[in-house]
Amino acid sequence: MTRYWDNKSETLARPALTALQAARLQATVDRVATHVPWYRERLAALDVRASNIRSTDDVRRLPFTTNADLRAQYPDGLLAVPRHQVLRLHTSSGTTGKPKAIHFSRQDVDNAAGLMARCLVMAGVTAADVVQNMMTYGLFTGALVMHYGAEKVGAMVIPAGPGNSERQLLLMQDFRTTALHVTPSYALYFAGYLASRGVDPRRDLALRRAFIGAEPYTEETRRKIEDQLGVRVFNSYGLSEMNGPGVAFECEHQHGMHLWEDHFLAEIVDPVSGEPLPDGTSGELVLTTLTREAMPLLRYRTRDITAFMPGLCACGRTHRRLQRITGRSDDMLIVRGVNLYPQQIERVLMATPGIGHNYLITLSGLDEMTIQVELAEAGFDGQVEHLVQLQARIAEKLRAEILVKPRVELVPPATLPVSEGKARRVIDQRQL
Ligand SMILES: [Zn+2]
Repeated sequence: MTRYWDNKSETLARPALTALQAARLQATVDRVATHVPWYRERLAALDVRASNIRSTDDVRRLPFTTNADLRAQYPDGLLAVPRHQVLRLHTSSGTTGKPKAIHFSRQDVDNAAGLMARCLVMAGVTAADVVQNMMTYGLFTGALVMHYGAEKVGAMVIPAGPGNSERQLLLMQDFRTTALHVTPSYALYFAGYLASRGVDPRRDLALRRAFIGAEPYTEETRRKIEDQLGVRVFNSYGLSEMNGPGVAFECEHQHGMHLWEDHFLAEIVDPVSGEPLPDGTSGELVLTTLTREAMPLLRYRTRDITAFMPGLCACGRTHRRLQRITGRSDDMLIVRGVNLYPQQIERVLMATPGIGHNYLITLSGLDEMTIQVELAEAGFDGQVEHLVQLQARIAEKLRAEILVKPRVELVPPATLPVSEGKARRVIDQRQL
């Protein structure tokens, strides 16, 4: 039998859900028009008033909000409550320049935890679980929102943070950890660590589930983590601008991530033109917050590429499902005139026997692509000609997938740089 955290909200009939979205959209537009001068000016320029917003389709009349807007309005240009009502500050990491500041009111913190609780119960977590949170605690939303959500469900949380694999293992053994929250790259690294210590997770640990997110990865990577850690892996989607994790999550069927549509209004648009795309088409996810109090955002351009899945899920939830994120519109590489995403390369590598989990894409010279790939621990039998054949096979499979034939270099296990946070997969040194 399906277990829900919030039965009524999670199974709300579509017409009622759409009506709720429309009412909340109007309230959100009213809120920002009243309290955020930056939005007030933009809405006035488009001649949009809250009273014009009657249906969810009216979202298309609203202005987009971009990553650059959030940076420009740092630290509090988008705040819709007096400062003393802000309960918590998070920032979203940026590679350069100013971060993006995300403000939470008490209600925002409660909502974020409540949505996370929905996700965890949906994936089978109960008060009897022990959740080891291996994400970075701090300004990043990833760890804290999961922490609050798991506590709301009544699970015991171990705020381990990332890194220090020896201590992670000790905690798992001594406190019988049942669920992990971890980045996919660290999950794979940790699985390798367990193997090197002779620990068989199925025999020696109590792990049953892992929740992974925060960086792009493929279905092959998910299956690899499931296999190596002996857990069921659930895809998790979120971004700091929308609370952090808990925006969309997989249910027990592990087939698409339910997006909580009573709190977020989603559109899929053409990443270049910004025009809405028909249902089922892949494009950039655009989200409008429907319940955010301290910092509502209209039509935020997530830059994540995905599509809605058709049909209803067998779990009974009425909230639509997102496909896995296939890339970020700004991760897209253009090599020899061909558009490609690093995730396409990862998919090929992870499906190749004998290959480890770490790889690095280097672009250099005039559009030369070199992919260094680690061999699996038992991937080399000492025969050099087998390596040469494997290299050629990978290069050919990649050419079929991405239409560009890269140079492939196989390197010994554990020789490429390892990150315990977000993995860096692409180095672009082209002089174009
Ligand atoms: Zn479902």
